[in-house]
Amino acid sequence: MEFICTRCGQKKGNKKPVHATYHIGRCSYCGEKTYVTEPRDFGIYDEPDEDVKKLMNLFNIKL
Ligand SMILES: [Zn+2]
Repeated sequence: MEFICTRCGQKKGNKKPVHATYHIGRCSYCGEKTYVTEPRDFGIYDEPDEDVKKLMNLFNIKL
C-alpha cells in the first residue's frame, strides 16, 4: 500500500482530495514521515504496464 503526503500530492496529483483520510506515515514519494493519505485521493493512479494497456485497448476500456 502506497501513501503520499500533501506536498507530493499537490505536485503530482490533478485534484484536491475530498474524502482523504490522513494519518501519520511515510510518504512513498519523498520518504518524509508526515501526514499521508492514499495517492488516489489526489487523482494519482499507478500507470498500468504495457500488456495491461494493450488488453484494455482490446476490450475498449478507458482508464
Ligand atoms: Zn511526499
